[in-house]
Amino acid sequence: MTNLSELTTLHVGGPAAEVIRVRSEEELIAAVVTCDAAGTPLLIIGGGSNLLVSDAGFAGTVIVVETQGNSYEIDACSGGMLQVAAGTDWDEFVAFTLEKKLANLESLSGIPGTVGAAPIQNIGAYGHEVSEVIARVRTYDRHERAIKTFTAVQCEFTYRDSIFKRSGDRYVILDVTFQLRRGEFSLAVKYKELADVLGVDLNARVSTLELRAAVLELRAKKGMLYDNAVQNWSAGSFFVNPIISTQQAATLPESAPRWAQEDGTVKVPAAWLMENSGVVKGEGINGAVISERHVLAIANAGGATSEDILALARSARRRVQERFGITLTPEVRFVGVEL
Ligand code: NAP
Repeated sequence: MTNLSELTTLHVGGPAAEVIRVRSEEELIAAVVTCDAAGTPLLIIGGGSNLLVSDAGFAGTVIVVETQGNSYEIDACSGGMLQVAAGTDWDEFVAFTLEKKLANLESLSGIPGTVGAAPIQNIGAYGHEVSEVIARVRTYDRHERAIKTFTAVQCEFTYRDSIFKRSGDRYVILDVTFQLRRGEFSLAVKYKELADVLGVDLNARVSTLELRAAVLELRAKKGMLYDNAVQNWSAGSFFVNPIISTQQAATLPESAPRWAQEDGTVKVPAAWLMENSGVVKGEGINGAVISERHVLAIANAGGATSEDILALARSARRRVQERFGITLTPEVRFVGVEL
């Protein structure tokens, strides 16, 4: 019997009744159809990098999506159109696009997980989101029992969110089509920390490979590059940055960083709220710790249970709630547990 702790980057989670690894789209759809027909609970996972699974495990079938392959066309005018299988490793795909001299994904370097998971929470980093370059998402719709293709608009992307995330497990992502610009210059550098590593001014553009190297350096420094061999396992950012009203933002201390959004709301860094509510790097409960390198990551330093991770997350969330009246929303997906 396989434990979910072997399939998730947090390395916690009890046994699964059954685990199926699928390597082709046909195998993936067939496995989903069989489970649905039998009424078997289903958990579909890619890299397992954003999951917190109960210590009791999962009483159903876990499908690990390992589908591979892509097809692409590169045109001098329109750039590159790449249709990529859901099970492809995200960062290997980013590296591949840069090798092909296609730009726009460089700032999303080093994010763990798979291509199929990227649209679900509209992954983003350093001022750019994957939704900016997604043309289509092909899915298997479990309600309609049919293939359904979403255009970018139909994906209803917002900050770390999409129709796929909001629809529970209804849509199984089969592949994603990206439209990328031809070129070796990056998108504008929007974040000061990144500009400083590169030694350039804000809004400068550098080579895509230079930008990727700088992002990987920063992520490594913050422990945000997943390394199975290092016992500081995490699921990356545990909470999403809250988006709050201007009125609520006005109640925060002046020193609180904040970024006005186009719709009039305000984004506040979850990490700042935690640090200013007394959450400190290195504090922990049993094997669960607030990462030494990034307060936003709750890590398993060895021997942690799912309950330990939850207890620490609850404690951090309660302190932010008491200090600032803001309830942090988890970025991590929970299976069989609740915050
Ligand atoms: P950071 O650079 O320490 O910044 C803290 C927060 O402030 C970030 O979350 C960022 O929001 C916001 N921020 C900073 N400069 C900004 C600016 N010029 N304009 C608007 N917002 C600004 O963040 P970090 O935790 O080390 O992460 C670095 C980047 O990787 C961030 O963009 C983060 O979102 C991204 N990341 C993404 C995922 C994911 O997609 N699942 C996971 C981990 C980290 P934003 O988060 O909106 O950028």
